[in-house]
This record gives sequence, structure tokens and C-alpha cells, in this order.
Amino acid sequence: MALDSKIPEGPLADKWTKYKSSVKLVNPANKRKLDVLVVGTGLAGASAAASLAELGYKVKAFCFQDSPRRAHSIAAQGGINSAKNYKNDGDSVHRLFYDTIKGGDFRAREANVHRLAEVSVDIIDQCVAQGVPFAREYGGLLDNRSFGGAQVSRTFYARGQTGQQLLIGAYQALERQIGLGNVEMYARHEMVEVVTIDGKARGVICRNLVTGKLERFLAMP
Ligand SMILES: Cc1cc2nc3c(=O)[nH]c(=O)nc-3n(C[C@H](O)[C@H](O)[C@H](O)COP(=O)(O)OP(=O)(O)OC[C@H]3O[C@@H](n4cnc5c(N)ncnc54)[C@H](O)[C@@H]3O)c2cc1C
Repeated sequence: MALDSKIPEGPLADKWTKYKSSVKLVNPANKRKLDVLVVGTGLAGASAAASLAELGYKVKAFCFQDSPRRAHSIAAQGGINSAKNYKNDGDSVHRLFYDTIKGGDFRAREANVHRLAEVSVDIIDQCVAQGVPFAREYGGLLDNRSFGGAQVSRTFYARGQTGQQLLIGAYQALERQIGLGNVEMYARHEMVEVVTIDGKARGVICRNLVTGKLERFLAMP
């Protein structure tokens, strides 16, 4: 069966921007009524869970490690690419898109990579706001370096520990939302099945790795 990755229609560079400006919105008053389940609390999951909770949704987050901070993201080293063009060496969203597609042996989904290149410009600022200590030049501006697979200098870094520092930033944002009661964290829970109703993901079955018991979680209003 072919995978339906639900990429929006339209010209490549406009697909997600157009979708974002036309997708149905959730009334702020209704956000608290919606449960969102996030499986995984690495850089992707921890950021998603913290951001969704900040937006007002009720979030449940799961990871199989004993702490969200144990995710594999901690191992990333070199840095994070962003098309900020701080070095004025001709960088652009298109060039970051092109390098990333090429670096992925032309096998990645193009529209999603384009979106990644678009938001790369803001992600660095969000990480700085979360306290990530990126390397800086003598004058205080964010530094970057030239890294593998890139035509220009666009890799923002925190020594050789970028993944660790990014994960600590995301983890702090997640812990803040846990403290505020907006995220319920389920560590040592391994998802074993996604529950679908009418083709839509509505819940998960997890194994509680402490008790060995199966537990179910629904994400329905
Ligand atoms: C050594 C190394 C160096 C790297 N260097 C760079 C770099 O310089 N620049 C760069 O951009 N990228 C780099 N990467 C890649 C980057 O680190 C990863 O792509 C990224 O961190 C993945 O994040 P993630 O949140 O998707 O996954 P992860 O951090 O692996 O998180 C996965 C999460 O899912 C949870 N999970 C998985 N299965 C289940 C389940 N069944 N039930 C419940 N929870 C589950 C885990 O508990 C965990 O919380 C590097 C990677 C490595 C290993």
C-alpha cells in the first residue's frame, strides 16, 4: 500500500505556507478540551510537546527512557543548519533546501524539506530564547561554521555538544509545561500500538516498563 504522506497541493515552495494560512483554526477556548499525545521526547517530541502545551492544548508525552533527557538527540554534535545568511556568502532558503535534498540522496520528501529550510531561520532564535548557549563571535553575534554537505557557512553550534545543549533547552521548556500542569509526562512507557478509528490516529497502547502492564491512552475531545 502506498503511503499517503498528506503533503498539501500547489507549487513546491508554497505548499506548506499556503496550507498553514488556509487550515482550520482551533478556537482558543476549545484548546483545553483537546488532548494531544506526543510519542517521543527527543528534540522533535520535546519541542512539539512543549510548544503545543504553550499554545494551550492538553498534552500527554511518552518516552521509553527513564527521563526525556535520555533521548538519542543528546548524541548530536556538529551543529544545526540555518539559512540566516549571516556570513553573506549567498545562502538562501532554496540553497539550504537543495543541499539537504542532495545530502539525503534525493530520497527525502521535497515539500517537507522545503518547510524545514523555511523555518530554519527562526528555529535558532527559538533555541536561543530557550537558553541554548550557541557559540558567539567576539562582538556577541551568533557564530556559525562551514560543515559537511553545505555550499556555504550556515551551521550554528555549541562546541561539539550541540545536540546535548539543544535537548537541555527543549527539556527545560518541556519541564516548565509539566510544572504548569499542561503536560503529563509518561517516562518508561513504550508505545506498542497506535489506535486508529476511521483511519485517524486516536490513541496509543503503551507498555509500562516498570510494571510490565499494558495501558491505553486516548486523544479524543
Ligand atoms: C552521533 C550523532 C551526531 C549527530 N550530529 C548531528 C548534527 O551535527 N546536526 C544535525 O542536524 N543532526 C545530527 N544528528 C542527527 C540528529 O541528532 C537526529 O536526527 C535528531 O536528534 C533526532 O531527533 P528525534 O527527536 O527525532 O529522535 P530521538 O532523539 O532519537 O528521540 C526519539 C524519542 O522517541 C522515543 N521513542 C522511540 N520509540 C518509542 C516507543 N515505541 N514508545 C515510546 N517512545 C519511543 C524515545 O524514548 C525518544 O524520546 C546526529 C546524530 C547522532 C547519533
